Amino acid sequence: MNRFSLAGRAAVVTGASRGIGKTIAMALAAAGADVLITFRERQGEAHEVVRAIEETGSRALAVRLDVTDHSSITRMVESARSFGRISILVNNAGINKPTDFDRITEPDWDDILATNLKGPFLVCQAMLPLLKENGGGAIVHIGSVSGQYGGPRTAHYAASKAGLISLSQVIARFGAAHQIRSNTVAAGLIASDMAAAGMNAASVQKAAENILLGRLGRTEDVADAVVFLASDAASYITAQTLNVNGGLYF
Ligand code: NDP
Repeated sequence: MNRFSLAGRAAVVTGASRGIGKTIAMALAAAGADVLITFRERQGEAHEVVRAIEETGSRALAVRLDVTDHSSITRMVESARSFGRISILVNNAGINKPTDFDRITEPDWDDILATNLKGPFLVCQAMLPLLKENGGGAIVHIGSVSGQYGGPRTAHYAASKAGLISLSQVIARFGAAHQIRSNTVAAGLIASDMAAAGMNAASVQKAAENILLGRLGRTEDVADAVVFLASDAASYITAQTLNVNGGLYF
């Protein structure tokens, strides 16, 4: 039996209309899982992801979700309940607004914390009954190296991602009795819309010089780690942070 296989499982991936979440959804499907993906605004892109997943032979559904809106979370969980026996949750949705510390506004601080930290808390709280009913499962949170070393120009983002590691550990404690594992993938600098918004070509080049493996990460690098942590191959791993950063931080 292939312990890396996700055949017969159903997963929810938040923020999978593009970027890292999209690649995670595709990788879970390639490993055999049915996948419910969520989008906030980009419905068209999300439906393209659904079509791409269906071409792999897995089932897929796209649902609108704003993790800062409790009623939106409740509606998503209802869709997840009808979609299948969910046993994998990937908390990927997140935002960043790189800004110097002395220029971060209070609304920006609140926005980032609401999306990157309170959002995963609310989503996990709402999804836990489903995972319990289905005999347990695996939650994977997408964290960031910023939350480990105080990423530059992102005080709010770094604080939210540091908090996410702690949240993941608390969920691991609470979930263990219900066969629910919780882990974080702390991603380094990954080539995506988010990285492009925060960096010009020169700063990407400079950042790559500090990465042992000499390149930015690919969304696939993060997705492969998520598939592993979601699978039975990681059945003795919980409350951990797996750094996927090319040696940028250790
Ligand atoms: P993108 O900006 O490319 O995509 C973000 C995704 O989150 C989109 O699907 C977006 O939906 C969704 N989203 C945004 N806000 C909300 C919200 N309030 N509620 C629900 N969904 C929302 O981001 P990345 O792919 O780069 O990042 C994904 C995750 O990885 C994030 O948690 C990020 O912090 C983390 N990460 C990224 C790194 C990088 O270098 N890129 C490094 C380390 C961590 P829509 O498309 O509809 O707007």
